[in-house]
Amino acid sequence: MVKTAVITGSTSGIGLAIARALAKTGANIVLNGFGTADEIRTVTDEVAGLTSGSVLHHPADMTKPSEIAEMMATAASRFGGADILVNNAGVQFVEKIEDFPAEQWDRIVAINLSSSFHTIRAAIPPMKKNGWGRIINIASAHGLVASPFKSAYVAAKHGIMGLTKTVALEVAENGITVNSICPGYVLTPLVEKQIPDQARTRGITEEQVINEVMLKGQPTKKFITVEQVASLALYLASDDASQITGTHVSMDGGWTAQ
Ligand code: NAD
Repeated sequence: MVKTAVITGSTSGIGLAIARALAKTGANIVLNGFGTADEIRTVTDEVAGLTSGSVLHHPADMTKPSEIAEMMATAASRFGGADILVNNAGVQFVEKIEDFPAEQWDRIVAINLSSSFHTIRAAIPPMKKNGWGRIINIASAHGLVASPFKSAYVAAKHGIMGLTKTVALEVAENGITVNSICPGYVLTPLVEKQIPDQARTRGITEEQVINEVMLKGQPTKKFITVEQVASLALYLASDDASQITGTHVSMDGGWTAQ
């Protein structure tokens, strides 16, 4: 049976790499995320070229529960629901706590945590009906440990780890697994945008941010690639991974071993 995957925030970075990898298995793909009309068309056409299934882009804004519900309803009406749900959309904002704008806190918690609550609750009923499902939450090394100036991000990523475990227990007998992936630094637009911000906040050069802040804590001293994260997601989505649930897999170059 052709599987259907919904991947939030899949017009760029890690989400797009996961969409490409799942498309190569022949799955139907529901893309989501922002971009110009041209960018979205290009990404949709590219992913459609990788699968024998169907590909659509849904523009739901992950800060808006009604739009998330509409995206999940579209997956249900077009494909009978998501067999594989990848909660990947995420944003960052770097500032010291006393200057951290409240609206950035609300935005980050909405996108990086609450959106997964909304997608998961809609995804579970069809997964239960099929007796099979895979939920993969893209958390972060920041789901396990903290860094200064990232209060909202670290709090939201710790939150998704708790949501992962709770839902995994609730659906453990239904053939549904729920796991998090905790990457270290992956070179994507999200990380590239942080480099000038961190340089400003810390009063250092961009090169120092890369070598002395980002890769300082990553013992391999190399950025992780989006393809490496996608390949782990592909494994967690497989039948071989049916006994991995309620946990996380780190891919952080040794960061959290310290
Ligand atoms: P990215 O900026 O390349 O991609 C983010 C995606 O989310 C884009 O498609 C964007 O359009 C989408 N998005 C942003 N706001 C949205 C919203 N309100 N509604 C819908 N879509 C929205 O980022 P990335 O680095 O690929 O990050 C993907 C995930 O991986 C995030 O959850 C991030 O926290 C996590 N992560 C990234 C790294 C890293 O080093 N890049 C490390 C650990 C975890």
